[in-house]
Amino acid sequence: EDDTVLPKMPPFDYTPPPYTGPSADEIIKKRKAFLSPSIFHFYDNPLNLVDGKMQYLFDEKGRRYLDAFGGIATVCCGHCHPEVVNAIVSQTKRLQHSTILYLNHAIADFAEALASKLPGDLKVVFFTNSGTEANELALLMARLYTGCHDVISIRNGYHGNAAGTMGATAQSSYKFNVVQTGVHHAQNPDQYRGIFGSDGLKYARDVDDMITYGTSGRVAAFIAEAIQGVGGIMELAPGYLPAVYSTIRKAGGLCIADEVQSGFARTGNHFWGFEAHGVLPDIVTMAKGIGNGIPLGAVVTTPAIAEVLTQRSYFNTFGGNPVCTAAGHAVLKAIDRENLQQNAFNVGLHLKQRLNSLKEKYEIIGDVRGRGLMLGVELVTDRQLKTPAKTETLHVMDQMKGAKLVSIPITMSLIQQFLLKF
Ligand code: PLP
Repeated sequence: EDDTVLPKMPPFDYTPPPYTGPSADEIIKKRKAFLSPSIFHFYDNPLNLVDGKMQYLFDEKGRRYLDAFGGIATVCCGHCHPEVVNAIVSQTKRLQHSTILYLNHAIADFAEALASKLPGDLKVVFFTNSGTEANELALLMARLYTGCHDVISIRNGYHGNAAGTMGATAQSSYKFNVVQTGVHHAQNPDQYRGIFGSDGLKYARDVDDMITYGTSGRVAAFIAEAIQGVGGIMELAPGYLPAVYSTIRKAGGLCIADEVQSGFARTGNHFWGFEAHGVLPDIVTMAKGIGNGIPLGAVVTTPAIAEVLTQRSYFNTFGGNPVCTAAGHAVLKAIDRENLQQNAFNVGLHLKQRLNSLKEKYEIIGDVRGRGLMLGVELVTDRQLKTPAKTETLHVMDQMKGAKLVSIPITMSLIQQFLLKF
């Protein structure tokens, strides 16, 4: 039954040009000497990536890898997608830099196209350079608009690494011991391990309690991902989001949808992750897939909320750079023309069915979750206790990297991650 959904893909016939640059060892030496050590623990022996073409990456020896991580959940229409590349090259030749202080059609055209993808009154776009910056701006807008400071986020969520967003992030491995004020972290409506199972309304009551006992009764905002990405592809329990949105609004707060990972058709059934929950946010933040990996982010909100920034001067140097916005516009067109949302739905369904079959066969697979091509597989050493299989997971990741993954039957043009939680 599940074999019927996959389209036939044309043969992949790209051979990268020979690589003549420094060896992986030479790069590692420089990396150790000149790059921040904060990233070293992610991979002991990182791949040396030289070329990328659609769903594949190539190392310095020309070995081909299926990029199931989709960049870092960024490359939503394929590495070096020809139309994105053309848009970048032609804009770069005409005007490489301008800011929103001046007029440039690439910025305005993309803002219009992006706004057309959002429902309701979400029509005003602010461009940023990253997801962190987008969320910082969203929190600032909510605080200005409501005159309140308290923010509620969900445990296990990830929203960025600057002062405000690190406060909203609720995973100790991404938090440093610096001042992060005014954020309360609600129970995670995690259907796999959460204390209320799949009962979304019980988790929502925790937010109600948090407002009653932890704040003045008024809050600035609630921020959440539709599916937690960095937190291990955690789907929110059904009924949770609409109930929380209503609670937050009663407390005078704004609802922020962090679509940095779940946006741009990745979840298949909708363009935005929040749409699956039947809610309408006040502010939507985005990055990653927006530019297919080009540094770009955005906040989209209503004209009334956007107005708060006129109290002072708000601008940033690179936000809305015409090269980045030209790339973003090409991404939107590619998603539409190539019907990549439907593709994410079809291929994601197929992949999830196959992963669930593997789960029936192998005890070590504790959970398969997510939607579209935002899928997660969690390995456990004990299914009853749900003990994370840390060593085994690292081993699988290492094996996948070494296996040149050419034969995996997911030759889709929308490439995304299936994340192994560890
Ligand atoms: N929000 C979510 C849901 C994310 O996954 C991330 C990054 O992984 C961010 C925000 C921060 O984005 P950036 O790394 O572009 O600052």
